[in-house]
Amino acid sequence: VIEIRNLHKAYGPLEVLRGVDISAPKGHVISLIGSSGSGKSTLLRCCNLLEDSQQGEIVFKGEPVIWKGEGHNRRPSDARQVLRIRTNLSMVFQQFNLWAHMTILQNVMEAPLTVLKRDRAEVEAAARGYLDKVGIGDKCDAWPAQLSGGQQQRAAIARALCMEPEALLFDEPTSALDPELEQEVVKVIKALAEEGRTMIIVTHDMKMAHDVSDHVVFLHQGQIEEQGPPDVLFGAPKSERLQGFLRSTV
Ligand code: ATP
Ligand code: MG
Repeated sequence: VIEIRNLHKAYGPLEVLRGVDISAPKGHVISLIGSSGSGKSTLLRCCNLLEDSQQGEIVFKGEPVIWKGEGHNRRPSDARQVLRIRTNLSMVFQQFNLWAHMTILQNVMEAPLTVLKRDRAEVEAAARGYLDKVGIGDKCDAWPAQLSGGQQQRAAIARALCMEPEALLFDEPTSALDPELEQEVVKVIKALAEEGRTMIIVTHDMKMAHDVSDHVVFLHQGQIEEQGPPDVLFGAPKSERLQGFLRSTV
């Protein structure tokens, strides 16, 4: 679904991504791990063009992003392509980012209605279905502040699903949660993996990365230091940096 080749990204003089290749084929779950500051969030945000990049290709469903300009002036040139990619790669953030002034149901319905201009009755039926699916079908009329962190995050996942995206991008979806609430969210993510959703998941939860991923990528200072199937990467890490990182996370 999404493929990135030789991506370079800098904030001013700070090189954050230094030639990264990553691909998420349809139905695959890719986990991105690495120390704080290694560039995981930046890479995820480059995938759906929330961030500019200076060099390298981003290909969505075989369609390469068309750029204009070079280096720090490089931007996507086709606004409709940007919208198509962004609406097809739904993001779920660490801090849920639900709209406080909307009910849970309205939160889930908002983007399909306003961005995709879909039919209200159909969107409402779909939204209720996704809220049921993540186990909070009874919270449709509640306000975000009335929900636990785990429930809010599941609402954010329902909201992402309601866009009917080609892939889901998660940026540390469980990091803001207490351990017992974390498990509710992990269960939902596991169920999505089992139904064959394409996902890229940035996470500090090595157990979840091990259990849900087809492929794990270890990022170090903006480059891929090591990658492979979870059993190999976690069971027999080759690089010393990855070994050290894994020791530091247990
Ligand atoms: P964490 O695990 O802490 O979330 P990360 O791997 O997601 O870390 P990024 O957020 O991608 O790391 O940041 C990579 C580097 O880019 C860091 O050095 C960070 O300070 C820098 N950075 C991130 N966003 C910006 C920005 N908007 N402007 C300038 N520098 C930034
Ligand atoms: Mg981050």
